[in-house]
Amino acid sequence: MTTIIDGKALGLKIRGKIAEEVAEVSRKVGRKPGLAVVLVGEDPASQVYVNMKEKACLEAGFNSSVYRLSQSTTTDELLNLIDELNKNDGIDGILVQLPLPEQIDEKEVLYSIDPKKDVDGFHPFNVGLLNIGEDTLFPCTPYGVMKIFEEYGIELSGKNAVVIGRSNIVGKPMASLLLRGNATVTICHSRTKDIASICKNADIIVAAVGIPQFVTADFVKDGAVVIDVGINRVDGKLVGDVNYSDVFDKCSYITPVPGGVGPMTIAMLMFNTLKSFKTRTHQY
Ligand code: NAP
Repeated sequence: MTTIIDGKALGLKIRGKIAEEVAEVSRKVGRKPGLAVVLVGEDPASQVYVNMKEKACLEAGFNSSVYRLSQSTTTDELLNLIDELNKNDGIDGILVQLPLPEQIDEKEVLYSIDPKKDVDGFHPFNVGLLNIGEDTLFPCTPYGVMKIFEEYGIELSGKNAVVIGRSNIVGKPMASLLLRGNATVTICHSRTKDIASICKNADIIVAAVGIPQFVTADFVKDGAVVIDVGINRVDGKLVGDVNYSDVFDKCSYITPVPGGVGPMTIAMLMFNTLKSFKTRTHQY
């Protein structure tokens, strides 16, 4: 029997709990949590993501401010805005939507965000804390995957987990969080040889590779948990990094695309913003 993980329902449940807590903590503090989202340029996918984040913020009872900047924005202009947002006491979280136009120094911008307001968890200070096992703001997508494991009672300790992809926003933090959960972790990437046979030993496979339907039945051992982080647009349809119908019967658990990991990313952004608000206003 294969269980289909319902990330949409779980994401909504988490957001509902966050909204309740926001109402309670906002009353005590005398203001709402504030999230600033910065969008540079007109990338259509980024616009969709930013609109979804804004809607989720309002539903959760946050103050949401979206800064829409032109495609020709310079690094200095963006750094000035981040500086203002860092200093603004009503802002608890700052998110710069990626990708940025190529004239902008992405690293310089991301590293300029106050680590306490870094709700994406991309600042090297937070990355360091994650890797030494401290509590901090964790990157939303892999953190959402960890919430899935928790909610569905998927045990990590002693399990073989394979992460396909080593990006700073998904693959590496995913591996780090799995390690914190006492899994034995292997990371595969574009230079890895024979990924299928490595995955064949995995109790848990997390695919974050960005290639449609990369993971096929020959990657998956019977009873494995398969988490598909991929979001690829093929002929106008969203397709994951896993060939869903091919692997389905072999899995104990599987995430669909859409409706799996995607909605969890937004839920964890809300979670991180509330966490930052509580830390900054000393509400524990
Ligand atoms: P990325 O930065 O492009 O990284 C892709 C990773 O896959 C890289 O580490 C790359 O290896 C590896 N890779 C590429 N080709 C490979 C191959 N043939 N064999 C093995 N590994 C290969 O992508 P990302 O930002 O991590 O995103 C990954 C996927 O997740 C994308 O589909 C993206 O849209 C999706 N995503 C979803 C969410 C969500 O909310 N669900 C959030 C973020 C991303 P090298 O390092 O060697 O180049």
